[in-house]
Formats: sequence, structure tokens, C-alpha cells
Amino acid sequence: MRSEEHGYTLEYAKQLDEQDELASYRKEFYIQSEKIYLDGNSLGLLSKRAEKTLLELLDSWKSYGIDGWTEGTYPWFYLSETLGEKMAPLVGATHREVIVTGSTTSNLHQLVASFFEPKGTRTKIVADELAFPTDIYALQSQLRLRGLDPEKHLVKAKSSDGHLLAEEEIIQEMKEDVALIILPSVLYRSGQVLDMKKLTEEAQRRGILIGFDLCHSIGSIPHQLNEWGVDFAFWCNYKHLNGGPGAVGGLYVNQRHFGRIPGLAGWFSSRKEKQFDMEHQLTPEEHAGAYQMGTPHVLSVAPLIGSLEMFHEVGIEKIRKKSLQLTKFMLELLAHEVKDYGFIVRNPLADEQRGGHIFLEHHEAARICKALKEHQVVPDFRSPNGIRLAPVALYNTFEEVWLSVQKLKTIMAEEQYKKFENKRGVIA
Ligand SMILES: *Cc1c(COP(=O)(O)O)cnc(C)c1O
Repeated sequence: MRSEEHGYTLEYAKQLDEQDELASYRKEFYIQSEKIYLDGNSLGLLSKRAEKTLLELLDSWKSYGIDGWTEGTYPWFYLSETLGEKMAPLVGATHREVIVTGSTTSNLHQLVASFFEPKGTRTKIVADELAFPTDIYALQSQLRLRGLDPEKHLVKAKSSDGHLLAEEEIIQEMKEDVALIILPSVLYRSGQVLDMKKLTEEAQRRGILIGFDLCHSIGSIPHQLNEWGVDFAFWCNYKHLNGGPGAVGGLYVNQRHFGRIPGLAGWFSSRKEKQFDMEHQLTPEEHAGAYQMGTPHVLSVAPLIGSLEMFHEVGIEKIRKKSLQLTKFMLELLAHEVKDYGFIVRNPLADEQRGGHIFLEHHEAARICKALKEHQVVPDFRSPNGIRLAPVALYNTFEEVWLSVQKLKTIMAEEQYKKFENKRGVIA
């Protein structure tokens, strides 16, 4: 048993690392020397396996030319489907319900174009006022395309404190004039995990379709989308899944919706064996593959092949367990070491409501982030005053968490942040 004080020491952090059953995965990644990378929820690091599969696909182009579509270790023509099958366990879907395609934003457009069917007085879409901007922009433009005014038809569920959402508040917005609901699984700022099961049940009871943006939960927390009956979901693969900058994203469509014509069709929406018949009548694929549009971005999906292998080996349950340990340790250290410096922790503290990152607010956040970078700690600044810190299960250590908090304490105690301007960079 640890005594109170022992729980905050470097020795204790090292002890946690020794007991860590995922510790061996750190050496699978390119860890930038001297740096403590806490930004894996914005852009995950490159792994050796991801590099290997990227090089293998380059090589298949080199060796096969156009025949790479059907030959080589990973024939390009089937890659979106085979990767979809591999991703399915991460979202709790059957293998045909997931396809690797598009980006978060383009997949959201596709899914809303496909599933938003305003009829009679049911013409509204519910989102939330803390949503990531791209989701809101996409919903506004989808409404405009249907000749509906976003001011009237996009309803944003309110947050009482500007950081967290209450499921009850969202459920209250599930009124008779609502056709569709789009919500995040994990909020990108406060890291709150929404109760997707409950929200789905309540939406379905009222005849409303519901879709989730999984950007901050995919590869970090388990999901049971099929069991919960979620209608659809979409996500990116460059955050916790380490698929590389601009990696191809993914989507899930519940099997009860198979066989529809996709809202934004293209020849890759076709049933595979029909695609090259070149008919002008689309025969849509009878699974999530129907929501693809054009030729897959083969080189931008290649690293995901290698990266997903590790998630398969380890399993999402173990990743979640370590992630919770890491964030809990960080919260304990922050409460102990920097309590006098004006930080406000915005995460829900309960395990089941806490996603994979810590979100701190401070009025000097922009320059504190710059000072952390000078100390070789890589955080994520979120305007106007947020600091996101994501210790991730596959490559961060408890020792790194300990060191980061010590560095933060030094920065605050010595007011080192004052030598920087309190302004964000172009990419923050
Ligand atoms: C990262 C993120 C996105 C990014 O969308 P892209 O189309 O990949 O640029 C969208 N939504 C949320 C909630 C995100 O966290």
C-alpha cells in the first residue's frame, strides 16, 4: 500500500512503469529524444509497424503498377473493407458495419446527406454548443443545401458551465420536430465521455436518428455501437490510432440501414463485383462500404494497417485501463503539486466520464504552453485559455507524467512563462 506522500514521488511513478503490462509497446514508436509527447490525441506518433506498412504499399506501387489494385500483400481494391473489419472491434460493430474512408468532416457530410430526412414538421438537427467547429459547419451547410435556415433548424443543446454537457439537457431537446442528433462521444475540450447508450435509447424511443463523432474516443475507449443500436458514427484515424497526418478516417453504419442509396454516391459506393460493369445505375454495396465515394487514398491509409495491429494485439480494454491510470495519476499530481497556481481542471473526475486527456484552464495558458515546449513537453493549446495534456497508453510512461507536472510546477513557481507572449500560434 502506498502512503500519502509516496504516491507523489518519482520512485512511485517508476514503480507504476515496472508494473505496466503495456510497457513494451513504447519501443514500437519513434519517441522524439528528450521530448515528452502529450499530444497523441491531436496527432499520434509514428510507429515502426506503421512505417513498415507505408513502405510496403509504396513498394507495391513500385513493383506492380496498376496491378497493385488486386495483387501484393495488401491489394488496394479491398483495403477499405479489410481495414474496416479490423477496426470493427474498436467500436463494437459487426465487421460489415465499418469502412475506412474519407475524413471526419467528409464522412459527417456523407452521413447527414444520407440519414437526414426532414419530413413534415420533423426538420431539425440537434447538436451541442460545445461541438467541434467542423461538425457545426457541416451541419449548417447540410441544412442550407436542403433549403433550411440553420438559425432555425440547428438546435444546440446547452452546457450549464461551458465545459460539460448533461445528458438530461440533451434529452430535453429531443422534441417532435427533431429528425437527427449528432453528438461527440468524448468532448474535445473537457474530455467528458457522454453516455452514448442512454442517449441512443432516448433518441430511438422518440423516432430520432442519432450519430456520434468518435474523434476523441476511437482507440482510447471501448464502444458498443451495435449493441447500443447507434445509427451511425464517424471519426479520424490520426489521433489515438496513430495513422499519420491526414490519415484516412472511418465510419460505422448500423446494419439495419444497409441497402440504402447513399446521399453522396460515387462509383466506390458500388457493390464490388458490379463496380467495373460501368453501368449508370448504381448498385450500392450492401454494407457500410456503400458510403465510400471515389478512389481510396491508398498511401494515406497505409500506416493504419501497421498501427491497427497493435490495437488488435493489446485490445481496447487494456488500453482504456492504462489510460485511466495515467490520467488519474496526472490529476493526483496536479492537485498536489500545482494547486496554488490558479489552474482549473475541467475534466469530469469519475473514471467512466473521463476520456483520454486532461484539460486545464489558466488565463496564461498560451504562454504556459510555450514554456512547456521550451521544457520539451508537448501539450496542446486550445483557445482561449485551455491546456490539453494527453498521456496515451501505448507510448507514454508514468515517469513522463511525473516529469511533466514537475516541469509545470517549476514554470509556475519561477514565473518562466512570463518571458513569452500570451498569444497562440497559427496552429494551436
Ligand atoms: C479532430 C476532430 C475533427 C477533425 O476533422 P477532420 O475532418 O479530420 O479535419 C472533427 N471533429 C472532432 C470532434 C475532432 O476532434
